[in-house]
Amino acid sequence: MTTTHTRTHTGPKLAFVDTETTGLDTERHEIWEVGLILRDKDHDDTEFRWFLPVNLSTADPFALKIGGYHERHPNGYDAAEDNDERVAFHNQFTDEFARLTRGAHLVGAVVSFDEERLRTMLQGFGHLPMWHYHLADVENLVAGKLGILPPWDSDELSLAVGVNPEKFHRHEALEDARWAMALWDAVMS
Ligand SMILES: [Mg+2]
Repeated sequence: MTTTHTRTHTGPKLAFVDTETTGLDTERHEIWEVGLILRDKDHDDTEFRWFLPVNLSTADPFALKIGGYHERHPNGYDAAEDNDERVAFHNQFTDEFARLTRGAHLVGAVVSFDEERLRTMLQGFGHLPMWHYHLADVENLVAGKLGILPPWDSDELSLAVGVNPEKFHRHEALEDARWAMALWDAVMS
């Protein structure tokens, strides 16, 4: 799925990103959804979303519930029969993601979580992740701007810069990427 929003930018190439996974363990658990919004100089913001096939036998049922796997993934048990979204092949996804994010700064909420898993997946399919090694955690940016000490609550940080978290369907990958972009814009504008 690809959507373009007309808006031109100056500044660095940014990749707002979020993943939904079958759990928190890097060994056993897998990414089942990826949301990406690419912001590049002189280009419109462009949104991407991929569903990926996963091995459910080792999944954490709580993690599946949080992200709504069975309701939203085309292979989910409760997914509508008329859900015509396709499930991407890993080699196709990793090829597209590596190409799109080359030279970008990854931006997200605790983006190190997503980066570690995406890096491992890309490398496993023979790609060299070429995003910038400076990752941008939007929650850290908000906390730094306002001088808020940890532990942090995502909703409180969001409200502190005027972004209503309830406007986003949190725990859907593309919506979480949109929320991260809203926090970035609130801090940087
Ligand atoms: Mg998420």
